[in-house]
Amino acid sequence: MGLCGMAILNVVEWPAKVLETRANEVAVFNGELRQFVSDMFDTMEKAGGIGLAANQVDRLVRVLVIHISSKNEEPEDIRDWHDKKFVFINPSITSKKGKTKYLEGCLSFPEQYDYVDRAAEVTLVYKDEWGKDHSLEADGLFAICLQHELDHIDGVVFTSRMSRLKSGRIRKKMLQRNQISDMDEEG
Ligand SMILES: [Zn+2]
Repeated sequence: MGLCGMAILNVVEWPAKVLETRANEVAVFNGELRQFVSDMFDTMEKAGGIGLAANQVDRLVRVLVIHISSKNEEPEDIRDWHDKKFVFINPSITSKKGKTKYLEGCLSFPEQYDYVDRAAEVTLVYKDEWGKDHSLEADGLFAICLQHELDHIDGVVFTSRMSRLKSGRIRKKMLQRNQISDMDEEG
């Protein structure tokens, strides 16, 4: 594969074990890493997601990407983080403020949505794909998305943040969904 190539990676669905495994810190910031980041953006855009963590494409590295479109927002609701491609490598939340609740979905749980409690604002430190250090304050949907993706690299799926009842309902649907697709493949 050339360095300018586009690759769509396979998005794994729960109950894949990789989704509940903690990812490792990135130590080497090279062309291979930057190609992987580019592939993650291509994969996320094609799947129609706003965030993607490496665990979801079967790689146990602490890499996540976010790109939130403003296309469904009223002009007064457009924020500075809209329509920007963010790469977070080895991210770590240093402070949290306030509380919020949002109807979350996940590319690894297709068609499953439920409310999850999150901090309203987060401050984090991270590296970019060149190994340079950054820090950032996030709020709104950007902060929610960051917390969801950070959970992924810690091996935490969003159902773990729900009540046992809601989590059980979604996990059951996912098990049924994957049984149904196995049967389809067998004809
Ligand atoms: Zn997710």
